[in-house]
Amino acid sequence: MARVLVSGGAGFIGSHLCDALLKQGNEVLCLDNLFTGSKRNIQAHFANPDFEFIRHDVTQPILLEVDKIYHLACPASPVDYQYNSVKTIKTNVMGTINMLGIAKRVKARFLLASTSEVYGDPLQHPQKESYWGNVNPIGPRSCYDEGKRVAETLTVNYHNEAHGKVNTGIVRIFNTYGPRMLFDDGRVVSNFIVQSLKGEEITVYGEGSQTRSFCYVDDMVAGLMATMEKSGFSGPVNLGNPVETTILELAKLIVELTGSRSKIVHKPLPQDDPTRRRPDITLAQNELGWQPKTDLKTGLQKTIEDFSRRMGAKRG
Ligand code: NAD
Ligand code: UDP
Repeated sequence: MARVLVSGGAGFIGSHLCDALLKQGNEVLCLDNLFTGSKRNIQAHFANPDFEFIRHDVTQPILLEVDKIYHLACPASPVDYQYNSVKTIKTNVMGTINMLGIAKRVKARFLLASTSEVYGDPLQHPQKESYWGNVNPIGPRSCYDEGKRVAETLTVNYHNEAHGKVNTGIVRIFNTYGPRMLFDDGRVVSNFIVQSLKGEEITVYGEGSQTRSFCYVDDMVAGLMATMEKSGFSGPVNLGNPVETTILELAKLIVELTGSRSKIVHKPLPQDDPTRRRPDITLAQNELGWQPKTDLKTGLQKTIEDFSRRMGAKRG
């Protein structure tokens, strides 16, 4: 088995990835500055000699000996990445250079967790990997969107470099949800579940006709690992669930699944909020034999159970 570095390993997706890698018998180095991640997400492994937690900021260089690097360190929700937008850019630029630097020095395979946000407010639907995107370079999302775009650029350039090519992959992750999401990360699934469980108003931004395609976290982790294991496959490859849902439908489903009496209210739509988003996952199916297995209802039920347990709340 391998020695694997997971940057951002104490976060939502990263901690599920650490669980799966350890289960497979790997040695895991979880590197995280705990900005949006939490030790609670990984505490089950503290006594495991195959697990090591390193509190470190990826914008600072670090020397480590590893075989594989999953680079996930970066706040993912709009509320978090806009909190300190310049830091978000530094994390994507300097953090990605530092992680690629390790990969180059020790000849590790490197996987970048990029995002569907590189497509911006897409003019092509569904989004294929060949689409270049429609991103506002000076908008409120730009620190993240453009940060990830330059992280992709860095990754392909380390891959193509004449002297010492790095074995890299890029995955473009579409909206992912599941247990361990933060209650207050402002993302739509966490907001609607917390609001439903507390009996508060469900805040649909705009008419709720905008769409997203929601992937359950276990499926995402399987996709990340499949990409890592396909050594030499550089991507980029879309990972996400191709079933598209409007935000209003999502709100109604969560109200139904929680048995909540919460009312749906409408709030202003944030600037540059993408109208439609759905991955074309043909490439992932063909190259990785991967596709999501969990339907939205089943995934939401598991997520609601987790939120309910953590909140210790009565259903509203
Ligand atoms: P998250 O915020 O839960 O996890 C990010 C982790 O990175 C956190 O543990 C955080 O503390 C850590 N981190 C942030 N800045 C850091 C820094 N400078 N140094 C070290 N650690 C740092 O988010 P997530 O949903 O688990 O997302 C993981 C990755 O997947 C991110 O790169 C994100 O951009 C990408 N992604 C996620 C989604 C999604 O829907 N969840 C969608 C697209 C892309
Ligand atoms: N959204 C909403 N109510 C909320 C939070 C989000 O209607 O309380 C909408 C948001 O405007 C967007 C969609 O849900 O259209 C997904 O938002 P999220 O922040 O989860 O992810 P992203 O926009 O980055 O895909």
